[in-house]
Amino acid sequence: MSQGPATSDPFAKPDAARATGTVAYPVVNARGLVKVYGSGDQAVRALDGVSLDILSGGITMVVGPSGCGKTTLISVLAATLDIDEGTIEAFGQRIDTMDAEGKTAFRRSNIGFVFQQYNLLPGLTSEENVEIPLLLSGSTRRIARARARDMLVRVGLGDKLRVRPAALSGGQQQRVAIARALVHHPRLLVCDEPTAALDGDSGRMIMNLIRDVAVEPGRAVVVVTHDIRLYGYADVFAVMSDGRIARLARRGEPGAPGTSESHS
Ligand code: ADP
Ligand code: MG
Repeated sequence: MSQGPATSDPFAKPDAARATGTVAYPVVNARGLVKVYGSGDQAVRALDGVSLDILSGGITMVVGPSGCGKTTLISVLAATLDIDEGTIEAFGQRIDTMDAEGKTAFRRSNIGFVFQQYNLLPGLTSEENVEIPLLLSGSTRRIARARARDMLVRVGLGDKLRVRPAALSGGQQQRVAIARALVHHPRLLVCDEPTAALDGDSGRMIMNLIRDVAVEPGRAVVVVTHDIRLYGYADVFAVMSDGRIARLARRGEPGAPGTSESHS
């Protein structure tokens, strides 16, 4: 169902527009998102009216200080967390109005996740970890194994198929996690501080990989980071502050983080 860009994609543009691999058209539209954790005196308004379009074919980088709402934002975009107010449309489907079962099905066919701490299952080998999303969406074991191996080869781990996470470096574990996130061809890849546990070289390697394997026509990538060294990978910045989008800028534009005009 989700093998590459769907031809029924309501946002689909002619092939010529997609071929450049540049940021093209919105695939996720979020409007007026509010998320409150807790209640009464304890209430935290983690999202306080966020509106954002996620564009295909590039990396949207969500930046801002710890606690400003970055993880909350990508969790609601990825349909793992319910919102209190607002609307989210992703690939032509309203996800805020789906029930839990609908959201699970939506995630299984459309979303790939990469976390700071890899979140691999320690008792499983690389190929077994990568098979999981395929088995969950009904692939046979044989097909799942073959696709998992192909994906691990693509991320440069063809020689680590039968190795458990403990025997891999941090950068290698994150490669397995990226393979697992992409093996079912999700249209939206969300990465929450994917390089935070890695040294600078491994972090850049992981970002290069995300860029190469994830930025395909019709696919969108959202990366949350604190790491200023990764700013060069952004096509679009969403700068958050206190549960809001303080500003949006394309890379290199005035106001984009990392340019002399920015004040962050
Ligand atoms: P970031 O990822 O930018 O560090 P988060 O989205 O994790 O920010 O958190 C935003 C705000 O919501 C913070 O004040 C945080 O303490 C609070 N928060 C996050 N998760 C929860 C939770 N499960 N329960 C209560 N408060 C939370
Ligand atoms: Mg966070």
